[in-house]
Amino acid sequence: MADWDVIVIGAGSNGLVLAGELAAQGARVLALEARLEAGGLLTTEECSVPGYWHNMLGAVHNAFAATPPYQQLDLAREYARFAVPPVQAALPLRDGRALVFHTDVEATCRSLATVSARDAQTYRALHARLHPLFASQLVETLYAPPAPGRPLWELPADLQPYASLTPRQVVEALFESPQVQAAVLQQLAVPWGVLPDYAGMGSMALLALSGAAPLAVALGGAHTTAQALIRALVRRGGRYQVLKPVQRVLVEDGAAVGVELSDGTRLYSRAVVSSSGLSQTLLEMVGAEHLDPALVERVQRFQLDEFALFAVHLALARPPRYDTADGAADAALRVLVGVETPDECADLWREVRAGLLPEPRGMVVTVPSLFDARQAPPGHHTAVLLQPVPYAVTAPPDGSTVAERWEALRDAYAARCVAAWRRYARNLTDSDILAQVPLTPHDIAVRYRNYARGALGMGRMSADQAGGNRPLPELAQYRTPLRGLYLCGTCMHPGPGWLGAAGHNAAQIVARDLGLRPGG
Ligand SMILES: Cc1cc2nc3c(=O)[nH]c(=O)nc-3n(C[C@H](O)[C@H](O)[C@H](O)COP(=O)(O)OP(=O)(O)OC[C@H]3O[C@@H](n4cnc5c(N)ncnc54)[C@H](O)[C@@H]3O)c2cc1C
Repeated sequence: MADWDVIVIGAGSNGLVLAGELAAQGARVLALEARLEAGGLLTTEECSVPGYWHNMLGAVHNAFAATPPYQQLDLAREYARFAVPPVQAALPLRDGRALVFHTDVEATCRSLATVSARDAQTYRALHARLHPLFASQLVETLYAPPAPGRPLWELPADLQPYASLTPRQVVEALFESPQVQAAVLQQLAVPWGVLPDYAGMGSMALLALSGAAPLAVALGGAHTTAQALIRALVRRGGRYQVLKPVQRVLVEDGAAVGVELSDGTRLYSRAVVSSSGLSQTLLEMVGAEHLDPALVERVQRFQLDEFALFAVHLALARPPRYDTADGAADAALRVLVGVETPDECADLWREVRAGLLPEPRGMVVTVPSLFDARQAPPGHHTAVLLQPVPYAVTAPPDGSTVAERWEALRDAYAARCVAAWRRYARNLTDSDILAQVPLTPHDIAVRYRNYARGALGMGRMSADQAGGNRPLPELAQYRTPLRGLYLCGTCMHPGPGWLGAAGHNAAQIVARDLGLRPGG
């Protein structure tokens, strides 16, 4: 008899959601985590100065409290709490104005009207249509396996043409102000991974305009969510173990029968579910010899993200102020810095694609302590700047490795990012910045093994790799050609984010295949 019903490779948000939901159905589940701490990228560390807590890999969450995993695992009982800031995003402009997106539609319209009365009216009309449309589909689209051959979002006939366009084409068709256009485009890259010229991803611009997927901060920091997921798993009789890197998936007669750890220990199970990447799972842990060569070729062609993120964590002695007329940008969850038109946006992404280190711009800045005072000492704050960069910065002709290049660039580039931000957050003096801790894409790749290129999503969010195409049409239902082997990571629908959605969706498939029943 197998040691376990289900072994889960990786205890990040997706692995923990899947493990918890299957344990709740009576399965004997073991989640194996390579790192010292479970939670994956849901990390919060005191990395700068004692008392300042930094969400190391981003700080914005989808509003998790409304999701099926939150309900099914009763995460409220496990102290997972989220705050949805009323000011969701702001684009401060060089001329001192700012475009500010509130959860309150009329407040947003007032802000947009400062650059275009017509765009404000368009936004009001669009929001009235799009909000109910997307809100009614959000959970069933993200928290269910993608329907093969169906578009991701069901749109009425007059909106359907937008879906086949690029996000840039959509915003240019809808709005006249380049600043309004840029403000929408800049909200798509982080955390959704969708770039302005991705054909067939126009519906993501509509989703952003709908306001149906507001972003939140986790009270207590991102790692609090991980701790809640761990408690929920253990409460349901599931187990997890840390410092257990899985090296190999054991295959017998075309079926996955367990895993081998890096120390040679073998564990057997009826099913193995991997939250690791596509090629890491199928090519490294399973091995091409167990797969159809045509599939191996398609896995090798799966495209990774086109950009990585360079993060700078700051401990601040006071909150940043953007010096704009009504001060609303000061309270924004995401402040979008330094790109004010679609052309400027395109220039940034052209440089990133060419492997050039961009002059810092297109940054997303979050100050979580504005919304959760516990994350810094009274009156003080923590901030994170996320700057899109290429992973493999073009080498000078010196034969240096990516690691060496980032090591050489780290501190100077962090200083340039902070300087670029302070051209907008003008109240901050040198003495207000108590510490700054950069995290290069290479640091991310080394610490978090799934993110081989320090990227957001373990796979590009282009239309040919989204929805029922993610990661490949034949793998989109979370099953693989090996009986008993499943995928539940960010390379699966719905892609990047701490949604736990891929874990939830895969759990449904595994439960069906194992004959589990709700309630155990
Ligand atoms: C720089 C950056 C910033 C981001 N910012 C945000 C943000 O602000 N908001 C947001 O919603 N999303 C953000 N994301 C995306 C988000 O972090 C991921 O989509 C999310 O973490 C995916 O969860 P997961 O459980 O699939 O993977 P992970 O969180 O990566 O967890 C996977 C776990 O599996 C473990 N593992 C992998 N391989 C093995 C193995 N062989 N054996 C054992 N264990 C293994 C890993 O150690 C890890 O703990 C960001 C990503 C990056 C890189």
